[in-house]
Amino acid sequence: MQTQSHFLMTAAALTPLRQRPWLGATEVAGLLTGAVLPDLPFFVLTLGGEAYYRWIATPPPTAIIMEYLHFTLFYTDPLWIGAHNFFHSLLINSALLVAGWWGWRRRGSRVDRFVFWAAVAMLIHVFIDIFTHHSDGPLILFPVDWNYRYSSPISYWESGAGGQTFFIFEIILNLVLVAYLAVAYWPTIRRRWRRKTPAPSSKR
Ligand SMILES: [Zn+2]
Repeated sequence: MQTQSHFLMTAAALTPLRQRPWLGATEVAGLLTGAVLPDLPFFVLTLGGEAYYRWIATPPPTAIIMEYLHFTLFYTDPLWIGAHNFFHSLLINSALLVAGWWGWRRRGSRVDRFVFWAAVAMLIHVFIDIFTHHSDGPLILFPVDWNYRYSSPISYWESGAGGQTFFIFEIILNLVLVAYLAVAYWPTIRRRWRRKTPAPSSKR
């Protein structure tokens, strides 16, 4: 799914839990970071690749740079494969989960708690991606296996795998989630805003 959908779904899932004592600022920061972190290298490489092939290197053999980045380098270039799949790997995220849990139990530090909850969110992100990608799914066994991708019958974008229908579903889902978050957090935002705005002075 699209990165913003991962973020909105995580934020909405946390909303009814926000009064729970175990859900502090570190946990929320870890979960929201983990919801989007797997996709961030893709954006950095896309922006960097666009700039590089436009202004520095000779343009790629295909006419459109974006196509070269997303349909050639994405599958063949070690930098692209490594950066995009590092936090999309079930193996790496499971190792982070165990390391975070172990450190949390042993030291109880905020960093360990952050790593644990970020790993939880990244694993959820990967499970959602596994079932919404047809030919470009994550390399879930990276770095042990650089080829295996589960081919889901549903894709969030490929027209041959229901991508057009899913695209509409995803837009509606995001609108519903934004509306839900707006309703849920509007009273808090208004309260804070009122507290910050000074009362109008009677003096001229
Ligand atoms: Zn992803």
